[in-house]
Amino acid sequence: MDVKSDLEAITAVGAVLCQQPMARYTSFRVGGPAQYMVLPRDYSQVVGVINYCNAAGIRWYVMGKGTNLLVSDEGVEGVVMVLGENLAEVRLAGTTLTAQAGAALTRLSAIALANSLAGLEFASGIPGTVGGAVVMNAGAYGGEMKDVVRRVLAATPRGELVHYSAAELELGYRTSIFQRNGNVVLEVEMELTPGDGEAIQAKIDEYTRRRREKQPLDKPSAGSTFRRPPGHYAGQLIESCNLRGVRLGGAAVSEKHCGFIINDNQATARDIYRLIRKVQAEVKKKHNVDLETEVVMWGKFI
Ligand SMILES: Cc1cc2nc3c(=O)[nH]c(=O)nc-3n(C[C@H](O)[C@H](O)[C@H](O)COP(=O)(O)OP(=O)(O)OC[C@H]3O[C@@H](n4cnc5c(N)ncnc54)[C@H](O)[C@@H]3O)c2cc1C
Repeated sequence: MDVKSDLEAITAVGAVLCQQPMARYTSFRVGGPAQYMVLPRDYSQVVGVINYCNAAGIRWYVMGKGTNLLVSDEGVEGVVMVLGENLAEVRLAGTTLTAQAGAALTRLSAIALANSLAGLEFASGIPGTVGGAVVMNAGAYGGEMKDVVRRVLAATPRGELVHYSAAELELGYRTSIFQRNGNVVLEVEMELTPGDGEAIQAKIDEYTRRRREKQPLDKPSAGSTFRRPPGHYAGQLIESCNLRGVRLGGAAVSEKHCGFIINDNQATARDIYRLIRKVQAEVKKKHNVDLETEVVMWGKFI
């Protein structure tokens, strides 16, 4: 079986890369090779790759911009489908913005601003794709994807296309139905609100200022490492355990924001993983609170 040639027959010559270091494709800048990386250009190619992998017994994964992903140093076996710039068309019709999964949230926020449409100001500083953002119900500063998403086109793990209405998405705090059913988000329809260009710009400027002030944007990370536990803030719990700035290998708890674990100095994925576990253990010991990761982990860590 020549997997690369088979995948190229489904997609295109040049759309399949072998042994690509995931460190190059994730915001943590760590992670070993993906055995096969596939860059589909349309929905039928995505479905074709799913069907091929299922029939051949090959494990497959999907990612956007890798801004919420920690991949192990050994990398991942199987196929990693990247839905990024290769699948990123956007259409605006009145107040309805429809984007393919790989469209960058920052770009969508800029399009909304340019057309004086409100609703995506919160997304201006979130570095992922709209597909990843729906899966995570990404949000910031009081806004979240749930506020704007109306419909989603997805592919099931068996390769069938399905439409979801907003009510069917089960969007909650950093969660959606897709974290449970493993569907691949292909297209997202968002409904925005006519607004005042200057007011939209002012909100974006304010959020950008707050991000720069509070977040360690100069170091590789995956944003907030942990989910907010009910009734608490992860950063405060971590700080109260005297973990600010604590290091393990090249990984560190950010001095600027304790909720961020950063790749401070050539960390390995294992350094980051071990630091996550240490933080979880100390918070559990002192506060009896379970800190769950928001960051998604792929591969073996032990
Ligand atoms: C500096 C920084 C700041 C951040 N700030 C925020 C913030 O304010 N708020 C916030 O919510 N997040 C934030 N994040 C985290 C991250 O940007 C979001 O979670 C984003 O939505 C992830 O999108 P992605 O395309 O990078 O997903 P990836 O990291 O590529 O993937 C994350 C998960 O989604 C799945 N996935 C991705 N695309 C698809 C798809 N098309 N179909 C099905 N599954 C898919 C992957 O399998 C994986 O499980 C931040 C990250 C960084 C680095």
